[in-house]
Amino acid sequence: MSGQVLVLGGTGEARRLAAALVERDVDVLSSLAGRVADPVLPAGRVRIGGFGGADGLAAWLAEHRPRAVVDATHPFAAQITASAATAAAAHGTPLLRLQRPGWTPQPGDTWRHVDSLAAAAEAVAGYRSVFLTTGRQGIGAFAALPGRVLVRSVDPPDEPLPPGATLLLDRGPFSVADELALMREHDVDVVVTKDSGGHLTEAKLTAARELGVPVVLVRRPPLPAGVPTAATVEEALTWLDERLRAPGVAGTPRP
Ligand code: NAP
Repeated sequence: MSGQVLVLGGTGEARRLAAALVERDVDVLSSLAGRVADPVLPAGRVRIGGFGGADGLAAWLAEHRPRAVVDATHPFAAQITASAATAAAAHGTPLLRLQRPGWTPQPGDTWRHVDSLAAAAEAVAGYRSVFLTTGRQGIGAFAALPGRVLVRSVDPPDEPLPPGATLLLDRGPFSVADELALMREHDVDVVVTKDSGGHLTEAKLTAARELGVPVVLVRRPPLPAGVPTAATVEEALTWLDERLRAPGVAGTPRP
């Protein structure tokens, strides 16, 4: 089997895809932005750092000539996703967007969807104790919140926090029991999250449901036009199998 696959990563799906490709002897190179101080590294080769916009990525594709690119970045990583779409189209490299589905409400949930972090900040301005789980990027949108705010992120935010903020540095997965305990300890009366989807961070939604606490979810940015999408790692492997024309890529792993 020949040809390199570039996986734009930074997610659990990207790591699972890289692991599956390594298992199948595919030459996979995972790319990370370098935002997190101590990232969980995927299997296979890894490069870290931006490409320099769509032009930089197009130049990288021209130099390295991967057989395919899988954009498995986070659903809210809109810039790199746009760059990938532009660069892959310019260079004629097959591109797949691997993006897990968003969360769907269950009976008992009180969810409100909003279009931006700023709109989320507006929606929770009247609450006493906000649990902010949107990640450190863009957290400045909440700087004027008047009440208590529990801010959880992997690394310390570099934008201003609200005056009543308590910062909790932690990385998922989180258990429902731990989320319940945390939300009770801080007497949380509303949760704010991006609609990231996936299992790693959904326990907070279960805990909110059990406690009768409302959740404000920020909607995802739109997908790039004209780029095929996969919702699961397995679908991405099937797509790659077709692109690489190498039987076995999506088949059973080597013994
Ligand atoms: P973004 O706003 O779309 O990207 C900003 C810039 O960071 C891009 O233009 C690109 O720089 C660089 N970049 C982003 N992802 C990259 C990758 N995988 N490899 C190389 N360069 C990358 O992205 P973001 O929201 O800052 O997210 C950064 C990383 O964190 C991504 O890998 C994403 O999967 C992960 N992540 C994001 C979130 C979130 O909520 N946004 C949550 C969890 C994980 P150049 O223009 O110089 O190429």
